[in-house]
Amino acid sequence: MNKLLIITAPSGAGKTTIMRHLLDRFDRLSFSISATTRNRRPHEVDGRDYYFISIDQFKQKIVEDAFVEWQEVYENQYYGTLKTEVERLWAQGKDIVFDIDVKGALNLKSAYPQQSLSIFVKPPSREALLERLSARRTETDESLRKRLARADEELAYENKFDIVIVNDILDNALQEAETVVSAFIND
Ligand code: ADP
Ligand code: 5GP
Repeated sequence: MNKLLIITAPSGAGKTTIMRHLLDRFDRLSFSISATTRNRRPHEVDGRDYYFISIDQFKQKIVEDAFVEWQEVYENQYYGTLKTEVERLWAQGKDIVFDIDVKGALNLKSAYPQQSLSIFVKPPSREALLERLSARRTETDESLRKRLARADEELAYENKFDIVIVNDILDNALQEAETVVSAFIND
């Protein structure tokens, strides 16, 4: 049975870093490329990091029932998992890794309760989160503010996930993630 590894975290907690490590480490895992209406960051590639689409296109896909799940994560910034994406990866026999927000993660987990493991990546502190987000240099002051406000909400969801990994010392967090995921996909 194909599995779903659902990774969620407040923005800046280190989810992408941990996910990249897992994708390198385990050949059976493949990344679910989400659709989004947010602007592409300079290093991002359309069709690799996200499918970047317009708000009109996104709304059309909602009408067509094309999403497994979707959320308006930030005002006017929509993100969603396309049914075609999940089918594409399952057709390749892959276990799928999802990088999605807390609400999307809970929805996905309840859609596939037997097949999925949900991991919440937690920053060691709010200060560390702010430092990491600022150091990443991807956000304006305004989007930094929005992301921190959202992080405060998301941190309250921590106890709803199967596993919580505190990302303080990166090497320790990577090792912990590897151990948990290895047990899950080899089960
Ligand atoms: P997310 O995907 O959760 O938004 P990222 O993986 O992009 O987070 O990490 C945010 C920033 O913090 C990146 O610049 C990353 O290199 C850095 N980072 C990740 N983990 C750690 C850690 N344990 N200690 C210090 N910096 C980290
Ligand atoms: P970012 O803009 O930093 O790439 O992502 C912002 C937030 O949107 C993160 O919490 C990320 O996990 C979430 N996200 C990305 N793709 C999806 C998706 O397909 N569905 C949902 N619900 N959230 C997503």
